[in-house]
Amino acid sequence: MIALPLWALLTWALVSVTAVMALGWGLNRMQLSRLESRVSRRDRQLEETLGKLGEADERNAQSLGDVEKARSEARTAMKAKSEFLATMSHEIRTPMNGVIGMTSLMLDTDLSNEQREYADVIRSSGDSLLTILNGILDFSKIEAGQLELEEHSFRIRECIEDALDLMAVKVGDKPLELTCLVEPNVPQTLVGDPTRLRQIVVNLIGNAVKFTTEGEIAVSVSSQLLKDGLYEIHTAVRDTGIGIDCAGMDRLFKAFSQVDSSTTRKFGGTGLGLAISKQLCELMSGRIWVESEPGEGSTFHFTTRMRRSNLTEPSFDLDALQGLRLLVVDDNATNRRVLEVQSIAWGMQPVLAEGPGEALALMETEDPVDLIALDMQMPEMSGVELAKLLAHHPKTADTPMLLLSSIGKRIDITDTPIRVALSKPLRQDRLLGALLDTVGERKGVDIVAPPASMERLAERLPLHILLVEDNRVNQKVALRLLERLGYGADVAANGVECLENLRRQHYDLVLMDMQMPIMDGLEATRQIRSQFAKDQQPRIVAMTANAMQGDRERCLKAGMDDYISKPVKWESLVEAIGRCELVS
Ligand code: ADP
Repeated sequence: MIALPLWALLTWALVSVTAVMALGWGLNRMQLSRLESRVSRRDRQLEETLGKLGEADERNAQSLGDVEKARSEARTAMKAKSEFLATMSHEIRTPMNGVIGMTSLMLDTDLSNEQREYADVIRSSGDSLLTILNGILDFSKIEAGQLELEEHSFRIRECIEDALDLMAVKVGDKPLELTCLVEPNVPQTLVGDPTRLRQIVVNLIGNAVKFTTEGEIAVSVSSQLLKDGLYEIHTAVRDTGIGIDCAGMDRLFKAFSQVDSSTTRKFGGTGLGLAISKQLCELMSGRIWVESEPGEGSTFHFTTRMRRSNLTEPSFDLDALQGLRLLVVDDNATNRRVLEVQSIAWGMQPVLAEGPGEALALMETEDPVDLIALDMQMPEMSGVELAKLLAHHPKTADTPMLLLSSIGKRIDITDTPIRVALSKPLRQDRLLGALLDTVGERKGVDIVAPPASMERLAERLPLHILLVEDNRVNQKVALRLLERLGYGADVAANGVECLENLRRQHYDLVLMDMQMPIMDGLEATRQIRSQFAKDQQPRIVAMTANAMQGDRERCLKAGMDDYISKPVKWESLVEAIGRCELVS
């Protein structure tokens, strides 16, 4: 029973599978033959297309190869050209140095006027040619990819100020103010290529000087910290010159192009400076652009990206300047701003005046100042004339004064109340040095250093000295001078304090200022002479601003023994002290 159905089942299964296979076979064959014809049609089409593509590819590959070949040939040719230019200008530069150097030597020998004139022309032509060659050399070097930027720590302010110093001589007799403001937030030391940075600034200032007959050229530097930790340094050179029109601006930064070819004849130049500057900016990850109005002047801006350096700044001890009031008298607003920003950064309190009139008016209303910085060239009157007026003013008679004059115009300050003359463009370190010298706080300053033979004066002639002086700066200067001679003096700020000191103890010598609040030097002297016994009387030496005529007579009449003029110098102090010895 069981075998029958099993056999039947197996037979049924076999028949069914065979039937299905037979059916399937039949169907596949029909479809396959149709598919086969479709596939072979597509294959043919594909082959045709591939064939066409192959031809195109071949053609494309050929033309791409051609393009690449042409490009590389062009690149090689350009590089070869630039290398040739670079080598050539380098080769020409070497003998040019000989020509210029020898002409300079020749100009130092005895020459007739005619010979000197010819030699002068050779040298100035040589200089111009060398400038052109340097331009071509730089330009071709950059184009050939041969210019490598240096990377080292440098002080950005020094770099910009060097550029200004270099260009200041080019200003010549033009009535032009050259100013420089480095914002206090700019890192003092950066890592980069100072020579190339200076080259851009020199070029921009050079152009500004060339195209500006009067007014000012102001260089300013600011910075911004970027997300990646680098600083974007933004430098702007603003002038009050002829300006540039819109049409000319496009051509400015292209090589060998000048806005107007007629200006070339008038001002000279190769038209390479700005193209080189543009390339240098780009090499320093920055850019260059200009804002200008014809007749209104131009401002060239450029940026560079640099890293802050770890190099530490040599720091000055600024304690002596803290809280000192500095009167700045300058008709140029940028100069006033520069002095304001810098003096605030050093802890001082600036008081600004646009000119002599305002300065004198301020002295009527304002509290006294400790130091005065005067511009030399001002429309109303010169800085020296104003210094003389201020020396007669009760509030400023003893106040130390600094004069700021343009480069090349040496001012003789011997018979003036001015203590130091500085030339513009003002370098920050020189201004700081002069301020510290004036307050007598800079270590190792020559102006307060007596010769070694004088340093032991106090040992030879021991004296108990009282310095009577109200001005803090003058106090410091006199104390420092005395210290150099080996004396430690006491200080009184006015006549009343002086009398109090004398009542407390004996002094051999009183160095007495004339103008002082509460009780002046003359009155104090009169009271000393009338109130103290003869053997208690000190020797009194007046210290007065030398601009005041008749002072000496008035001092002696009031009972003083001697007189030295301000600014006090160690020679006159030594002489006055020496006379104490003769008397005693
Ligand atoms: P160049 O050596 O001829 O001065 P530059 O590339 O430095 O070459 O300058 C190109 C031109 O741009 C100058 O010839 C001048 O026409 C114009 N230019 C540059 N700077 C100034 C500026 N400060 N004021 C007016 N024009 C300027």
